[in-house]
Formats: sequence, C-alpha cells, structure tokens
Amino acid sequence: MPVGGLVPRAVENAADVVVRNAKIHTGDARRPEAGALAIRDGLITAVGADADVAPLIGPATTVVDALGRRVVPGLNDAHLHVIRGGLNYVLELRWDGVTSLRRALAMLREQAARTPKGQWVRVVGGWSAEQFAERRLPTPAELNEAAPDTPVFVLHLYQSAILNRAALRAVGYTADTPDPRGGRIVRGRGGEPNGMLLAAPSALVLYSTLAKAPALEGEDRRTSTRHFLRELNRFGLTSAIDAAGGFQNFPENYAAVTELAREGLLTLRIAYHLFPQTPGQELADLTRWIETVRPGDGDEWLRLNGAGENLTWAAADFENFAEPRPELDSYEGEFEKAVRLLMEHGWGFRLHATYDETIRRDLAVFEKLAAEGLFPAGNRWLFDHAETVSPDSLDRIAALGGALSVQNRLSFQGEVFARRYGPGAAAEAPPIRAMLDRGLTVAAGTDATRVSSYNPWVALHWLVSGRTVGGTALRPRQNRVDRRTALAMYTTAGAALTGEQDVKGVLRPGCYGDLAVLSDDYFTVPEQDIPDIESVLTIVGGRIVHAAADYEGMDEELPAVSPDWSPVARFGGYQASGRGSAPAAGARQAELLGEVVAESELHRHWRVERGLATAHTQPFDPCFLL
Ligand SMILES: [Zn+2]
Repeated sequence: MPVGGLVPRAVENAADVVVRNAKIHTGDARRPEAGALAIRDGLITAVGADADVAPLIGPATTVVDALGRRVVPGLNDAHLHVIRGGLNYVLELRWDGVTSLRRALAMLREQAARTPKGQWVRVVGGWSAEQFAERRLPTPAELNEAAPDTPVFVLHLYQSAILNRAALRAVGYTADTPDPRGGRIVRGRGGEPNGMLLAAPSALVLYSTLAKAPALEGEDRRTSTRHFLRELNRFGLTSAIDAAGGFQNFPENYAAVTELAREGLLTLRIAYHLFPQTPGQELADLTRWIETVRPGDGDEWLRLNGAGENLTWAAADFENFAEPRPELDSYEGEFEKAVRLLMEHGWGFRLHATYDETIRRDLAVFEKLAAEGLFPAGNRWLFDHAETVSPDSLDRIAALGGALSVQNRLSFQGEVFARRYGPGAAAEAPPIRAMLDRGLTVAAGTDATRVSSYNPWVALHWLVSGRTVGGTALRPRQNRVDRRTALAMYTTAGAALTGEQDVKGVLRPGCYGDLAVLSDDYFTVPEQDIPDIESVLTIVGGRIVHAAADYEGMDEELPAVSPDWSPVARFGGYQASGRGSAPAAGARQAELLGEVVAESELHRHWRVERGLATAHTQPFDPCFLL
C-alpha cells in the first residue's frame, strides 16, 4: 500500500513490514500506546510514531496503513484442541455464531444434499441451544427431514449427540446394542435407539460414536489443518497451546502439523502437550515419551510444552454440567506415579480438573511430592478449567507455584450450570478475580472445538461481561475483568505458560512480529459488540497470514479446500453476524462516505451562517439530492 509523502529509497536495516497510522496497544507497560511499528526477519525492530519508522521503509518494505485502526498483539489461546481440530475442520459444518435453529437446519439440509454417498454431515461443537432464537436443540425428526439418506451427527456440548436414522444405521446401533459405561443410548418403544445419545456423565459415548465416521487422509489432512489455522488467524490468533485430547495419538496425529512446520507453512505458533491415550497404560506411554522427546524441544513455531491435559484417565472429571458431578474412584496411586515420573525427568504438565473436589485430591498428591522436594522441582505446571476451585485450593496452588488456564465453557453451558448449582455458584465459576488477586498466572482460552467456539472474541466478551452466548448474566462485576486485563490473559499470560514471556504477547523491539489489525476498536466498542470483532490483517513473524476488507489479497496463498464438497468450502467457519465491520468492506466504505457527507453538510451550515455561502449552494450534484 503506497504511503503519501514518502519516497522509498535504499536504507540500512530496512523493515520487511511497517504498520503505520495505527492505534497500537503494545501490552508493554513501558510504552503502552504507539502509532507505528516495524518488523524485520520476523522480529519487531521499532515501535513509536510514524516518523520513527519512516526511515526504516525501503523499496521492498510492505507498508500497511492501518487507517487509524486498533492494533493488538497476536492472541494466544492457552487451551485449544488445535491439532485435532485441524484434522477434522473441513469435514465439519460449523454452527458457531448461527443465531437461529431455522438457519442452522437450512445449512444442514443444503450440506446433506452436497455430501457424497458414504460421507457424513457432522456438527461438532462450537454452539449451544441458548444462542438460537428458538432456544432449543433440533430433534431427530428434524434431522431425518433435513437429511433422509446422509448420516448426520450433531454434538451438543459434552452433553448429548443427535443422530438421524441414516447415522444410526451407519454406526449399527440397534435394540441389542448395550449402553456404554457412563453413557446412554436413548430408546423408544421396543428398545430401538431414537437418535439421542447422552453423556451420563462420560462423553465417551459421544466421541466413540463420532470416531466411526470417515476421517480425512493424507494431503487433505494438511490442507484441512492449514484452513483451520487460517480461520483462527481470521480472529487475530497467532499462537495456541494445544491441550492434546482423546483420540489424539502421538506421533501419528501430530504428523500434519509437523510436516507443515518443517515446510514453514504453519500460520499459528503451536506449543503442544502429550496425553496418554489408553487407560491402564499411562505410565508406559509417559515413560516411552520421556525417552523420546524433551519439553522445550522444537522451535518458536512448534514446541513440546509437557504432558497433559490428562495424565491418567481415572483422574479426569467430566464437565457435563447437565449431570451431577462424577464421583471418581481412587486414582491417587497411579496418578502419583505419573507426576513423580514427570518431575524426576524435568517435565512440566497441565492438568484437566473441573471441580474443586478433584483439585483438592490432586493437590494432596502434589503436596506429598513437594515434601520430598520433588514438586514442582523447577517445572511449569497448571490446572485447566477449575470452574469450582475454592479460595483454599487457590492458596495451595499459589504455594506450589502453579498457574491456571480458564476457558469460556460457561459461555455455552452457563444456563445449565446455573440451573444445577444456583446463581451463587455460577457467579464464581470460575473465580477469576480471586485467582488474579493472588498473583497467579491466569491464561485464557476456549477449549474449542467440541464445546466452545474457537472465536477468541466470544471468550473475551465472556471475561469482560460475565455473560453467556444466550445473554444470561452469570458473573457479577466483582468477578469480571476489564478489557485490558482480559487481553493480557489472552496474550502475555499464555506466553508465560510456555516460557516465552520475553518474546511473545507484547509489541516491543526484540519480540515476535505477531499482531492483529482489528475491524473495530476492542477498547471502545459497546460491550455487546465485542463478539463481532474480527481481524482485518493478521501478521505472524512478519508474514501476512490473514487479510480482509481494505487489505484483501495481501495474505499468503492457500490451496483450495479439499474435498470440494466440504461444508467449509460452502459456508466457511464461524458465521459472522454481519454487525462487525470486518467482512463488509462495502458497508464500511458506505459508512465512511456517510460521515464525510455529514461533515460536508455541517460545514455548509457553518458557511451559510457566516454569510460565506447561500443556503442554495449545494456541495453535490443536484441529482444526488433528488
Ligand atoms: Zn479439559
């Protein structure tokens, strides 16, 4: 983009990219605001005013005029199932952001018609019945009507799945199929499955059914991953910490991101964790991994960050808030062995724990090891989720040098949580202020893609407003955070969890050139409009990886979505409301024109009042006014 008044010439230390005419929130306390910055070799080399970076513009510098827009450090989702999400992205129809069930079913009907025989239509998380105007789930009959022949699998949170008749046939569930442990196949008269599956409270029944659907192969996995990363870039994400997950095997399922990293094609920095997959075999898996790889191995794009979010299956408490809290059997024996093994070998970890009852038992194990001098022994560790963690447990976490990672799962499950535990408990779920008041590192994220949407602005809205996607107010003002703090939880805190706090999360010379130019100013838009923010330009390591609106076409090329019947090829990912200004460059231009017109009109009145013009002097062609 050309810049008026500057004549490019050969300069020393010329920047690769300069962003100017911006409202930059740097996240750096020493210089919180700036107007321009320069990036060279992936790192920020200057932050200041337009005049400070002007000498760094050479003939080959890409100059981005931010047009006065807000710029923030690239966002970092501290708990995202990004690797698994990437392997499935182009196979999934996303209801994220859809505001009515009517529209959701219309999308499903259209997608079923485009889906070839043998393939499924699947909607796997990122939405809640509360976001629909109708405030209800689809019924199996509605799925049958929309897709008479194509198998349809619709996952609603970690609570239930709805299958149409064709999907029940494809998975072979009949009156003779027994209920799996912790799950329920809902049946009609005669014991025939009616299409509903319930987590009661284990979500295994949902995932093991989904696992019967066809998966992507070979090159399509890489293309799918690339499209998912670009979809995340669309919202200004430049980093994520992968939480591993069920059905995510190491090293097989890590091959796509590993190959992309090798070829320099990742557009999101990923720190990942390793999660033992087989109950009863966790210690053997951990031992094998400890012999093979080391935390911190890798580079700034792809790096192992430790074990978790499960260490042993028996210690995992499922977060289906529609069901009572699960009572876990004794798990401490194997769990202690796993943590001891990790600590002895210099491995940090993250640990999934929803309820304080589980957290207290985990802490007792850690404290026992600490008494032996084994915990945390210089390793980073954190609790994930912690919706009902108590003040006492927070003190114990602080004493053991732990951190926390919170997600907006209650954006989607808040209403069910409040119905079961009451508004008092919902007001403190999780107790974010109590965490921050203790000086704990609290990183934010989504836990996408199977409950929450990956859209970070929905999560930031939840942090700031305390409201669900259905608009229910859960957390009162004293347990909310201001916008600046919420952003820090989405940037610097995530960097701290991977030991990258000196290079990531702030815009300062020497740090990674990771940033987002936003569609709307996060700091000044009305609170209810925060979920509609998108990035119009995302830069990672000095590379433009997403460009929209005024910048369309400036980003790196991407292969077409494959297979071509993919729902993503037709519908994309998150469904924007259209209220934000990102996707609608035409609307933005028209609004600007409207402002200019209004200004001209004011100016004309001013001139008429002072006798400098007559009331009949028109600034426009008269045709315009007819
Ligand atoms: Zn978890």
